Amino acid sequence: MSEQDMNNVTEEITEEVKEDEYEQICYMCRRPESVAGKMIQIPGNICICQDCMQRTFDTMNSAPFSMDDMMNMSKMPNISMINLSDLQGFMPQQQKIKKKKKEKKEKPVLDIHAIPAPHKIKASLDEHVVGQEHAKKVMSVAVYNHYKRVMSDVNDGIEIEKSNMLMIGPTGSGKTYMVKTLARLLDVPLAITDATSLTEAGYIGDDIESVVSKLLAAADNDVERAEQGIIFIDEIDKIAKKKNTNQRDVSGESVQQGMLKLLEGAEVEVPVGASSKNAMVPMVTVNTKNILFICGGAFPDLEEIIKERLNKAASIGFKADLKDKYDKEENLLSKVQVEDIRKYGMIPEFLGRLPIIFSLEALTEEMLVRILVEPKNAITKQYQKLLGMDEVKLEFQQEALEAIAKKAKEKKVGARALRAIIEEFMLDIMYEIPKDDNIGMVTVTEAYVEGTGGPMITMRGCLELEAKS
Ligand code: ADP
Repeated sequence: MSEQDMNNVTEEITEEVKEDEYEQICYMCRRPESVAGKMIQIPGNICICQDCMQRTFDTMNSAPFSMDDMMNMSKMPNISMINLSDLQGFMPQQQKIKKKKKEKKEKPVLDIHAIPAPHKIKASLDEHVVGQEHAKKVMSVAVYNHYKRVMSDVNDGIEIEKSNMLMIGPTGSGKTYMVKTLARLLDVPLAITDATSLTEAGYIGDDIESVVSKLLAAADNDVERAEQGIIFIDEIDKIAKKKNTNQRDVSGESVQQGMLKLLEGAEVEVPVGASSKNAMVPMVTVNTKNILFICGGAFPDLEEIIKERLNKAASIGFKADLKDKYDKEENLLSKVQVEDIRKYGMIPEFLGRLPIIFSLEALTEEMLVRILVEPKNAITKQYQKLLGMDEVKLEFQQEALEAIAKKAKEKKVGARALRAIIEEFMLDIMYEIPKDDNIGMVTVTEAYVEGTGGPMITMRGCLELEAKS
């Protein structure tokens, strides 16, 4: 056998093993093996569950014509039987369900010793996320405890409560970014959804359980992995209870109600490889008990509610303070309490299932400058790498960075504005520089950012002379 043949055989075998990892699906009722029980294989690579097989026999027995009649029918002209095996192969890859691995029972997927301690989680977050010290600390401890809980033995009577979180912070302050970084670090699947798209089941929009379906997709349809993943629900403030309304609140309070059992832990039947349930899509059961839910929102007018509460407290009693003491206070959000969020329109049962509440600071100009240069994947580093491929150095003057931060701050969308601003003025540099091979370095100046001048260009020859001297 030649080497090529050998390779082909090994490929075929690995392909078979891969195939084996997926559950068989009943051809008739579309239920997977884990739900419908053992499958009966019939020629043509078709699987049928025992229930459907029995039902077929029952129907055939009660049918007015016999099997022989059917056989003869297929021999008649113009009547052809459908070859079922042609259809069976037509199962899209994303709709296949991975089998739960049995041998994994003894060895947990997430070994508690392999989960980094809170200070290590925070240190890794530090490499990517600038500032937000308090948020990073709270999150690291919560995540550590969560996975400890997942690994713990429940039989001793002490059940550790779930550490679902609620993050409050202005737009562009790094909420999504922190969750993404965390999921990558822990190597767990992550699903990000927008609460605005969710509605009570039966109404137009995604029903609440679709978030679990997304997580399953992120875990490559591996139920066991999905059951230890993270679900991030953004814009949670948009499902606050609507005030003074007589209509049915299908996208606010009832979504909160609908989410209660998910947050606490429930068995949900979700479609595999599709966002909605229908007869053609296989279903699988996912338990949300060990899924970590993180909700995030900007809660725009929450500061007013906090201010009102603080002012009220300060103006009562002998030590009464000035009534407007808190009017100019920055980062009022850090003083948030559950009662403020309840007043905002989140129902108490919902908040009760998100025991960890913390806030992120609004980014200051100084923090924005740091975001430009410090993170591992900082945007200036990305451009330096791009130009580095053309052997051109890229430098940013400190004043230029400050000017970018100032412009971004004015846009009031947090760090999100940085990329758009940089991209605007880098366009010319990225277009012009490759034209001239003699350019060795480009320095972005404040004047260039402000639009009153150009970047500083240094030729290769000058750089070499500088290096020699
Ligand atoms: P939001 O709070 O609205 O979810 P994002 O997390 O989407 O904001 O932030 C947008 C982008 O801004 C991120 O992709 C990230 O690059 C950057 N960013 C925001 N905050 C920080 C931060 N504290 N440190 C580093 N980068 C940040």
